[in-house]
Amino acid sequence: PSRAVEGFDAARSESERLTTEIERYRTAYYSEAVSLVSDAEYDALIRRLAEIEREFPELAGLDSPTQQVGAAIVSAGFPTHEHAERMLSLDNVFTIDELREWAEKALAAAGREVRWLSELKIDGLAISLAYRDGVLETATTRGDGRVGEDITENVEFIPAIPRRLEGRGWPRFFEARGEVFLSGADFAALNERQHELQAEHAAEQRAKGVPEDRISVRYPEFANARNTAAGSLRQRAEKKNPRELALMRERLGRLALYLHGTGAWEQRPDGAGAFTQRPDGADAPDQDAEVPSLENQSDAYRLMAEWGLPVSPHTRVLDTVDEVVAFVEDRGAHRHDFEHEIDGVVVKIDELALHAELGETSRAPRWAIAYKYPPEEVHTELLDIRVGI
Ligand code: NAD
Repeated sequence: PSRAVEGFDAARSESERLTTEIERYRTAYYSEAVSLVSDAEYDALIRRLAEIEREFPELAGLDSPTQQVGAAIVSAGFPTHEHAERMLSLDNVFTIDELREWAEKALAAAGREVRWLSELKIDGLAISLAYRDGVLETATTRGDGRVGEDITENVEFIPAIPRRLEGRGWPRFFEARGEVFLSGADFAALNERQHELQAEHAAEQRAKGVPEDRISVRYPEFANARNTAAGSLRQRAEKKNPRELALMRERLGRLALYLHGTGAWEQRPDGAGAFTQRPDGADAPDQDAEVPSLENQSDAYRLMAEWGLPVSPHTRVLDTVDEVVAFVEDRGAHRHDFEHEIDGVVVKIDELALHAELGETSRAPRWAIAYKYPPEEVHTELLDIRVGI
């Protein structure tokens, strides 16, 4: 065989091997909230696969993990729900040079001055909150980007997520997208609680005469905040006894949220006041209210904050790429000083008209990029909350 064919065959078998391995990690991560490898190791496998696919584009099918958002749902038993607008992932860069290169290309594509919405990349779990007439209709996980799990029943126990919006001027229907996370303090508190519960469990066992070396670990320590948040959010109340149910609610109560985007955003058809009567008639609407004009994503954040939705205090709108780079470096130097874990910075073009103009690939918008910080340590995570127990 000629060298090119040999090269192709070798590339194909490597890409198949990589795909199988990556799929195993994805299923564990997205469906069971368990990390079998570190994020950096996972990212390296994805990068290698993408490299092969760049060389041999015929290997890059739409079913390749490089082309997909999240993973298909392996059911924890929740009903599924189709997002009104697709939820995307983000493309990544790993060096400042790559970040500058991306910004230059984005600027050229925009063809005009832009402002850069610069945000912390929260290491949590993506969620979509659909509000109709100011009332939460559904809360859905990202799933594969089109269809997620309807976890509305659990959101009732998360005080950070308002069931009813405050203020006025909400669109008749809209989707707020954000990241659910456990703060460092709440993660520590949950683990303290696990120790307490394990001690009680051990005492009960001892009282029953179970020998010390046979006492089971029923409440293990949680290994990382992201997976604990994901596992908690996707627990099912069904089949839980009252004690387990109380514990599940306690964990849900500790989850926090910051919004980082919008999906569907439906104004009233006549273009007048953007909100209608609530089903319960509370806060009678002002039908003549001005429709708030949305020019930038930062305007959407400001409005959502006025309506009582949690937005990040760490977001900045910056004028130049140099300022963005300074932001990335500064936040990187303080990456453990925030209330949540971060794995990078997300840089977005602020102007919404440009979002529409630049569009998206099969898995990510062209107007945003995630810069990921280099890993600090490699460690294998053990056990996190398993869904359904
Ligand atoms: P991603 O983590 O690269 O980034 C996209 C997501 O970031 C968005 O969908 C959004 O939910 C989130 N996000 C956080 N802050 C944001 C902000 N300010 N603005 C916009 N979005 C923000 O991609 P992904 O598709 O969520 O997951 C892939 C990543 O997940 C991998 O790079 C890896 O880190 C991790 N992963 C790890 C394993 C493992 O086994 N360790 C397996 C699968 C995935």
